[in-house]
Amino acid sequence: MNEDIIKRLKALIFIRALFVTILLGSLYVLQIGYSKLLYPKAISYLIVILYAMTIAYALAIKRTKKITLFAYIQITGDIIAGIALIYLTGGIESWFSFILLLSIISASIVLNRRASVVAATISSILYGLLINFQFYNVLQIPVYGSLSERDFFYNIFAHITAFYLVAYLSGYLSERLRKVTVRLEEKDIDLRDLKAFSRDVIESIPSGLFTMDLNGRIATFNEAARRITGKTLSGVIGRRPEEISPFLEDIRLEQKLLGNSKNFDSPAGRLEGEILKEGERIIIGMGFSTLTDSSGRPIGAIGIFQDLTNLRMMEAEVRKKEKWAAIGELSAWIAHELRNPIASLKGSIEMLREGKVAPQHGQQLMDIASSEMDRLNAIITDFLLYARPKPPGEEVFDLNQSLKDTITLLHSSESANKNIKIDEHLNGELFIRGDLQQLRQVFLNLGINAIDAIQDKGEITISTERKNDIVEISFSDTGVGISKEDMEKIFYPFFTTKDKGTGLGLSIAQRIVEEHGGRITVQSKAGSGTTFKVVLPVKDNGKVKG
Ligand code: ADP
Ligand code: MG
Repeated sequence: MNEDIIKRLKALIFIRALFVTILLGSLYVLQIGYSKLLYPKAISYLIVILYAMTIAYALAIKRTKKITLFAYIQITGDIIAGIALIYLTGGIESWFSFILLLSIISASIVLNRRASVVAATISSILYGLLINFQFYNVLQIPVYGSLSERDFFYNIFAHITAFYLVAYLSGYLSERLRKVTVRLEEKDIDLRDLKAFSRDVIESIPSGLFTMDLNGRIATFNEAARRITGKTLSGVIGRRPEEISPFLEDIRLEQKLLGNSKNFDSPAGRLEGEILKEGERIIIGMGFSTLTDSSGRPIGAIGIFQDLTNLRMMEAEVRKKEKWAAIGELSAWIAHELRNPIASLKGSIEMLREGKVAPQHGQQLMDIASSEMDRLNAIITDFLLYARPKPPGEEVFDLNQSLKDTITLLHSSESANKNIKIDEHLNGELFIRGDLQQLRQVFLNLGINAIDAIQDKGEITISTERKNDIVEISFSDTGVGISKEDMEKIFYPFFTTKDKGTGLGLSIAQRIVEEHGGRITVQSKAGSGTTFKVVLPVKDNGKVKG
């Protein structure tokens, strides 16, 4: 605060020197109205005194501690000098009474509002005294015009009014100016703080972050980015991302940054690729998007990336372990599944070899052996279907018709002691493109599961619905439902809750549907029923009627 006052005081001293030189100097040089002057020499003295004061002030300002008092002294000194000038140049008839206004204004600028009122008060008293002394002839100031008593008092009144008015106005304005200045400075500090803050944030976030401008050149590259890539700031700023790694070229292509900002409208994407860090390959996963300014105009692109090397290595490790675990599980199941029929086959053959069986029993044993061989064959066929699916064919067929065929098949396979009603909502023809045989297998598996789920009595509803470019096929039953724990396992191969189940039905169905680009979903409530939904895409030239 004091520094501000000192700065303004210095300005005051300088302006005063200038003023003395120009105004009084010109008066002295041109000698205007000199003949009228009371003591012409006095002007020269005044000039000398003021210069001397200026020098004194300039020297004192470096020493003084009481800066406010110092300022008051200067302002008072100025007023006294002003009064002296007015006295010398004719009192009431002087042209120089405005000089007092300048002192009042400088008081408000250098100090504050209160100082300007003080200056106005001092000016009023001294000016009032001077004019009064002139009027009562205490000071012998000649009056050239004819002025009445009223003129004198009106002159004093007008001056005092002007002094206070100017004190008020300039005080008000300088106060306002000061407040605005303070606020601006605060804002400036806020802004600087904010800039520093966002820079700190950018540097401190643990992910690599970079930005590039519309020319596709890197503009920001934070600490984590440098650590992950092993690059230095000077090695990347101003370069293109693909100079760091070729795969990063995609950002520029995606963002269409090639000098044409109008096309700059691809908002975001993800990339994964390798970069070389000190001869070692590291995997980087990056998300990027358009960088826009506060008005939403694109000004470049921003990317955030992580080092995924360890993660990907761990994933590969886990995948390898999972694969071996699955193979182990599979082998155990196959061994178990094959052993039972082989055991009964072996038993039957042993008995036949010993030749101790009656011929009609011999026939029976042969039947058993044959059916066990069928079972072996079925398991292997199913398993191969799951393990090595054929790529689906691309026939166009009526989906509704194939579901009707499935229902006929289900009716015939359904065991006689159950009371099951099958409802169908299959309206018109619904042509899709796909592998008829494989999809039939899917529908049959879902249908048989639904029948299996119903204990004595229940309903199955089969329906299709076309929604834009997909068809939804739904199998709903009122059977036992699926418990929460089982829910996540039903699509695993060999998971079954049935005595004679293989646990391959749903796995095969899922595989086939996925090969067709579709998906299977399931909703179930234990005790009240289950709905399986198969969603298939309708490929472009799969024509659809009805
Ligand atoms: P499987 O029929 O040989 O058991 P799946 O893969 O077809 O093998 O089915 C796996 C398991 O999913 C079944 O054992 C059964 O527990 C459950 N499941 C499948 N469909 C249904 C259904 N509609 N209602 C209740 N449970 C079902
Ligand atoms: Mg099944």
